[in-house]
Amino acid sequence: RAKEQGRNRYHLYTSSMDEQALQRLTMENDLRRALQNGEFLLYYQPKINITSGRIVCFEALVRWQHPEIGLVSPNQFIPLAEDIGLIVPLGQWVLRAACRQNKSWQEMNYPPMRVAVNFSPKQFLQPMMVNMVEQVLAEEDMDPRWLEMEVTENVMLQNVDKTIDTLNRLNNLGIHISIDDFGTGYSSLSYIKKLPIQTLKIDQSFVSDIDTNKDDAAIATAVINMARSLRLNVIAEGVETVEQLKMLSDLDCQEMQGYLFSKPVSAEEVTHLLKSTEWPYLAMGHLHST
Ligand code: C2E
Ligand code: MG
Ligand code: MG
Ligand code: MG
Repeated sequence: RAKEQGRNRYHLYTSSMDEQALQRLTMENDLRRALQNGEFLLYYQPKINITSGRIVCFEALVRWQHPEIGLVSPNQFIPLAEDIGLIVPLGQWVLRAACRQNKSWQEMNYPPMRVAVNFSPKQFLQPMMVNMVEQVLAEEDMDPRWLEMEVTENVMLQNVDKTIDTLNRLNNLGIHISIDDFGTGYSSLSYIKKLPIQTLKIDQSFVSDIDTNKDDAAIATAVINMARSLRLNVIAEGVETVEQLKMLSDLDCQEMQGYLFSKPVSAEEVTHLLKSTEWPYLAMGHLHST
């Protein structure tokens, strides 16, 4: 019955004149209730060191299990959550859930790995953000060195001095900082040099055509070389094919993430991944054609 009501409700607004406004309003109301109703969950996607074949980190990616629509992807609700101010409590929930899950894997005696949490601009710029992170880590009894934060570069451009101060405080706690979607923003070499960060994460838009598009290959190459000269770690996201893997490997990009290795999976499926970390295409002969 609830399902039927839901269907009618959604039917109603698809046929309405102010379809979009109404849909947004409904979404907004649903979203506000979602946190207290426990409708959010985390999926995890591994980051692999291709030399060791080991999983070095799991990125937590939030999903919304909507009672009527089903699983909603973050691109559909994170921007809205930002607009209505829900991102702060939601972000805190994500951080806590990710830390708790990682702690529980550690207690199950899996080799310790980092867990990466995405912070959107509003979250990162919250005045009490560092205190909040510190408090959650303490409450969940998780060593900060197993936490990684993914932040996009444009956020860091807003107020350089303040950003550096925030990053220093996070670094002092021992948190690993990555710049997500790197290459899509406006940061310059001299600017990146100033930031106390650990990793550049090459955006998947440069990875998807790396083996066919010269410009994308040039950008990926430049980012990898830049990371090396700044002594930063580099990871490629969105690796889907063996050709992309080979190309990135030839450029000496040591870490990768993407559907080729694993899609984001539930916490339960993570334990299966941890029990069988054999990636067939990482076998020596496969990787190095020369
Ligand atoms: P992101 O952090 O850049 O995450 C990468 C996105 O690409 C994820 O989508 C992931 O599932 C997808 N992806 C991974 N490997 C591949 C691949 O090989 N091919 C393709 N085509 N896609 C791949 P997802 O989970 O839908 O998340 C989208 C974005 O939503 C994330 O981009 C991130 O910016 C945001 N997001 C996700 N979870 C959170 C969260 O907890 N908090 C905040 N603030 N933002 C989040
Ligand atoms: Mg990310
Ligand atoms: Mg990304
Ligand atoms: Mg992205």
